[in-house]
Amino acid sequence: MKVVVLGAGIIGVSTAWHLLERGHDVTVVDRQLDAALETSFANAAQISVSYCEPWANRDAPWKALKWMFRDDAPLLFRPQLPFGEGWQQWRWGLQFLGQCNDRAFERNVQQLVALGAYSHSALKEVVGATGIEYHRLERGIAHYYTEQKSFDTAADAAALMRKYGVERRVVSTAELLAIEPALRAFGPQIVGGTYTASDESGDAHVFTQALAGRCAERGAQFLYGHDVEGFEKSGDAIESIAVRARPSMAGGLNDAKLRHLKAAAVVVACGSYSAPLLRTVGVDLPIYPGKGYSATFKLLKPDAAPYVSMIDDQVKCALSRLGDHLRVAGTIEVGGYDLSLDTPLAKARCRMLARRIEEVLPGVCDTRLEEDGGTPNFWTGLRPATPTNIPYIGQTPVRGLWVNAGHGTLGWTHGAGSGKALAELISGEVPNMAFGFYGFAHRAPGRRLSPI
Ligand SMILES: Cc1cc2nc3c(=O)[nH]c(=O)nc-3n(C[C@H](O)[C@H](O)[C@H](O)COP(=O)(O)OP(=O)(O)OC[C@H]3O[C@@H](n4cnc5c(N)ncnc54)[C@H](O)[C@@H]3O)c2cc1C
Repeated sequence: MKVVVLGAGIIGVSTAWHLLERGHDVTVVDRQLDAALETSFANAAQISVSYCEPWANRDAPWKALKWMFRDDAPLLFRPQLPFGEGWQQWRWGLQFLGQCNDRAFERNVQQLVALGAYSHSALKEVVGATGIEYHRLERGIAHYYTEQKSFDTAADAAALMRKYGVERRVVSTAELLAIEPALRAFGPQIVGGTYTASDESGDAHVFTQALAGRCAERGAQFLYGHDVEGFEKSGDAIESIAVRARPSMAGGLNDAKLRHLKAAAVVVACGSYSAPLLRTVGVDLPIYPGKGYSATFKLLKPDAAPYVSMIDDQVKCALSRLGDHLRVAGTIEVGGYDLSLDTPLAKARCRMLARRIEEVLPGVCDTRLEEDGGTPNFWTGLRPATPTNIPYIGQTPVRGLWVNAGHGTLGWTHGAGSGKALAELISGEVPNMAFGFYGFAHRAPGRRLSPI
């Protein structure tokens, strides 16, 4: 079957790979000149099957209110006027509030763990089949706490994860320092932690570009530098996709011709931009950008740097070693599609990451800012966030139009499995996991799925 995948981030490329595995004829379209140049570019690098709690929980509304006027707050809601795109933000915010209770939290955790476990096996299969190297570290993820009150809740979260089959355990400070000795200097400030040995880390950008290369070797076509402008419909089905070469691809011309691509199936995997694109054909999904930041620092003392990937509870950022660099990333800002790094707010958030690394791992990385002669590598990306944290994987009401988007904070963790599951659905197979696929009625593993 001819399938066109829109978007060459981790989700689109993984979908393409699994479609090729099932013998389909695949074309991937992306506006960038290579794969993984938007949100999949410089994330926190964690394959965090066990650290998958949604942002929406019973305390989130109060915390968001408390943090509203703090530039370096972990979660920052920046209200826009409730018209046009601003209305999407308000609607998303209200739906998010609807998820801030214990019942919804547990239901969402169950779905995220199911997808995470499925995805972890799928990632191992792809790595086994391709041999791709991407600074992978199979050293687990540790979460450290500096406040007793927060640490007191760690046991409940770990128990919830264990209920769904994920082995996260609570560890004392001494155990934590034995697991990751690089934390020794910061040890006196740590009150305890949790640890999951089976989690991993690795560079999503390196992995995705290498997988795109393997897809091309297997015959997939990549149409880079092309904007997807919309769709033509015929009745209730997709007729074609309208794409246009960017000026850089069209010899600098701004009036490159619109091309119309046809396929039996079209997959929208455009991250945060999936929502406005799908709305043009009446498919209205609550996917909204959650801006996050990362900083990648050169290691000055590689021997003193961590191998275990970590989560810092106080500032809600994640740290992962990528070869001779350390990536630190985090915070979420719900305020539209702005990607600037030079506003006072963006600068405050980037500085916070650098400051925190210096506190936790003093002297280990070159955290100097530009004004002090350093060359920090700051980056920002838009997480395609849903109110539940659960992505939309499945079939839209428009015949032939499929979606794989809304992976929020966990797109790298869930990438391989989401791609595999959607390729299975398109091929008429049933993914073997308990997950609510968009547009399908059943979620029990091994049961027949019926379109709704
Ligand atoms: C700071 C930060 C830290 C994170 N840390 C982690 C982590 O540790 N672990 C984890 O699992 N996840 C993490 N994530 C989340 C993860 O990075 C995302 O969920 C994931 O990258 C989303 O992948 P995607 O393919 O859906 O989107 P993208 O990577 O954004 O890909 C979408 C593609 O669609 C293309 N596109 C969009 N619109 C159009 C159009 N109109 N025409 C043509 N092309 C178009 C874009 O060019 C892009 O290449 C983090 C995210 C951030 C921001």
